[in-house]
Amino acid sequence: AKAKGKNQFVVHTSDLSDEMIAESVLEIELRNALDNQEFVLHYQPQIHNVSGALIGFEALIRWEHPRLGLLAPGRFIRLAEENGLITQIGEWVISEACIQNKKWQDAGMAPVKISVNLSTQQFLTRNLISYVEEVLELTALNPKYLVIEITENMAMEYEYSIHVLKELKKLGVGISIDDFGTGYSSLNYLKNFPIDYIKIDKSFVSELMNDVNDAIIVIATITLAHNLQKEVIAEGVETQAQLDFLKHHNCDITQGFFFNKPLPASEIENIYLHH
Ligand code: C2E
Ligand code: CA
Ligand code: CA
Ligand code: CA
Repeated sequence: AKAKGKNQFVVHTSDLSDEMIAESVLEIELRNALDNQEFVLHYQPQIHNVSGALIGFEALIRWEHPRLGLLAPGRFIRLAEENGLITQIGEWVISEACIQNKKWQDAGMAPVKISVNLSTQQFLTRNLISYVEEVLELTALNPKYLVIEITENMAMEYEYSIHVLKELKKLGVGISIDDFGTGYSSLNYLKNFPIDYIKIDKSFVSELMNDVNDAIIVIATITLAHNLQKEVIAEGVETQAQLDFLKHHNCDITQGFFFNKPLPASEIENIYLHH
């Protein structure tokens, strides 16, 4: 619909239809994608800044769409949230990531943490804790090698979120705040929520060397996180200059194209699994 003067809207059916048809087709296909095993996880290395050691991977979902090829989450996560499919997809992500991480450990790779993204909707579903517990049991993955990434939007359900986070901590998994500083939230949650890592959003990192405001925000975030006994992960690091800046300001962990793009499991094995 386009605004046409005061209180008047004209719907251009010709504009809408293609997009709407494509979207509803995609929605139907999305409902079958899990059964058809069309989702895959790609893994992006996270590097410790002081030692240079690999400390973990972030698992990022992709959809191997039969017609459209490999789709990034930007193409389907919102759709999955709108249709209530995100919880089932998210459960698959948790179990696939834990299975993969255990496989790598059993194959002799140095143990690392695997981080999974949880949508707020999934974070608020009642059986999340028992699901995570069950997956850890079935895979026999040590819980300290699983990290759950959530955004600060979950702080909107303040009391319930504290409860869930405390239960997850009891299981022994790590908690990371993703996209820090980009959500609708006060800083208040930082003192009450049991969080291990703060992730500096790539929107701050990408302009670090050009925009003094971004540099100031990044430095302040690192200081804040360290004073609260939390570790800092910078995401979206693409250049040596950004890495040098972050190291100079004591950022703990780096993730970004400068080291690696998210890669399929087979490529991770080529790099990190020595036969
Ligand atoms: P995110 O959690 O903030 O993940 C980081 C995104 O930045 C990823 O995009 C990653 O490929 C990209 N990235 C990493 N390093 C760089 C870099 O150096 N430069 C640039 N330009 N980009 C970089 P991706 O994989 O397309 O994922 C986009 C978003 O989709 C994620 O943002 C996350 O919010 C969501 N997502 C991904 N996987 C899942 C999932 O399994 N479940 C849910 N609920 N959301 C997911
Ligand atoms: Ca993330
Ligand atoms: Ca992020
Ligand atoms: Ca994001």
